[in-house]
Amino acid sequence: MISKVIASKTLVEILKEQAKQKVKEINEKLGVRPALTILMAGNNPASVSYVTKKIELAKECGMKSEIIYLNENSSQEYDKITTELNNNKDINGFMLQLPCPIELENGFNINSEKDVDCLTEVTYQKMLTEKQDAFSPCTPLGILRYLEFLGVEISGTNFAIIGKSRLVGKPLFELLLNSGGTVTLCHSRTKDLAKSISTADVVISAVGKPNLLNQDNIQEGQILIDVGINKVEGKLCGDIAKDAVEKAKIITPVPGGVGPLTVMSLITNTIDACYMQNGLARPTWKVQ
Ligand code: NAD
Repeated sequence: MISKVIASKTLVEILKEQAKQKVKEINEKLGVRPALTILMAGNNPASVSYVTKKIELAKECGMKSEIIYLNENSSQEYDKITTELNNNKDINGFMLQLPCPIELENGFNINSEKDVDCLTEVTYQKMLTEKQDAFSPCTPLGILRYLEFLGVEISGTNFAIIGKSRLVGKPLFELLLNSGGTVTLCHSRTKDLAKSISTADVVISAVGKPNLLNQDNIQEGQILIDVGINKVEGKLCGDIAKDAVEKAKIITPVPGGVGPLTVMSLITNTIDACYMQNGLARPTWKVQ
């Protein structure tokens, strides 16, 4: 079988064009421009790079976007700024870039209608119960769109997810389940990973371990979605070894796979937030 490495570039472009159009439409109709604010503490190089990408993409789509740098030692400052952002009608969505070095005394203090990165428990609950105004976390949302773009019908398909974090593995489990998938969730205590993923049509790895998936533990014809981000000898790579290409049906690359769709999802969530806050119907997003 010849496997295909399918990057997300085309899908990102499709979504970007729709984003530009939707920003233009609401601006012409109501004179508003969707606005995103990112709070950031510390200067972790990976976080700086992600935040820069988010801000640049928002600008490219015609939105307003800004970064607010927080004093690393002050959770009171975080509370004060988030209260201001919650009350500011001109800001449609805001998020705190993680990991965050501040100990947040009161947890995430973001109104659910502006919680475009799904950081709070209220927003998470809304996602679980499939509320119409719920925001899904950006990486799982990007993966759902990737699957649709790759022609994977979720209903009736067997999935194995590796990694059970709050922002990737667990919400992805719920979203796939809600859409009719049969889902196995694996993690560091899973006894026999190869066996647990062996019956899956689609394996999604969100661990952060290079070569975790390779020719020895995958099956012929599986679709492999690589969420992991690792650096080996200064180069970015995912969790899936190069040799997996020979057996897999489809592989998503790192870089150029799930990552750009995560950033794109933050943009689409913020545009959705802007439409709903202005009394308009939530937009729909097409992947073809
Ligand atoms: P995390 O670091 O919080 O958790 C890792 C998970 O992997 C845990 O659930 C753990 O049980 C599991 N795990 C660890 N070793 C394992 C093993 N040997 N076998 C099976 N499971 C194992 O997870 P995270 O924040 O979801 O990040 C996971 C990876 O995904 C990281 O590389 C991160 O950089 C990347 N990531 C990428 C994006 C993106 O947009 N591409 C977004 C978020 C995270």
